[in-house]
Amino acid sequence: MKLILLGAPGAGKGTQAKRLEEAYGIVQLSTGDMLRAEVASGSEIGQELKSVMEAGNLVTDELIISMIASRVEQGDCKKGYILDGFPRTTAQAKALDAMLEEKGQKLDEVIEMKVDEDVLIGRITGRYTCAKCGQGYHDEFQKPLKEGVCDKCGGIEFARRADDNEETVRSRLVSYREQTAPIASHYDAKGMLKSVDGMADIDVVTEQLKEILG
Ligand code: AMP
Repeated sequence: MKLILLGAPGAGKGTQAKRLEEAYGIVQLSTGDMLRAEVASGSEIGQELKSVMEAGNLVTDELIISMIASRVEQGDCKKGYILDGFPRTTAQAKALDAMLEEKGQKLDEVIEMKVDEDVLIGRITGRYTCAKCGQGYHDEFQKPLKEGVCDKCGGIEFARRADDNEETVRSRLVSYREQTAPIASHYDAKGMLKSVDGMADIDVVTEQLKEILG
């Protein structure tokens, strides 16, 4: 199964992708996570990426497309994958079409998670993750059961993304509006676009996604 989760930053793509990974035995391919790993490696290219990401801008299509092209060749993608944060521009969507066509493959679903823009800033600036297992939390909406201790693994260290501050989030939303939102029409024109209500409770959103995926 190959699917794309579309939606603004903070729509819940990453949270739901992790749940679908477990439910369907497919892998989450988050271009944001891949780029953050490159930044954390301290490489020269990582240094360049860091400044682009912290400004809330998009990195080049060329880099992202080659990153995804080699990632989908890895063995863990055989059963399928969930694209989270990719494609983010029309050029990326077209490159993905061409890549799949060349392999004789096709996407099973493209699902947009719809969320009102006015809730996104609050969702993003309050979020953090367990540094050990990556479980997501939120200052207001999803606190650990025991303060300071991860529910999932017992970890006691947490991390916040450098680009989850209000100023960067505003730029990320502009990039989304101008460059990413139009790709919904790309898939709609192919009759492939479905949507779920990303404003609903996390479990309800998962159910809506599972109804589509079967
Ligand atoms: P995300 O984790 O998906 O919110 O992505 C974090 C940041 O990584 C974005 O604000 C961009 O700077 C960069 N990024 C992630 N995915 C892409 C992509 N497909 N194209 C361009 N830039 C991306």
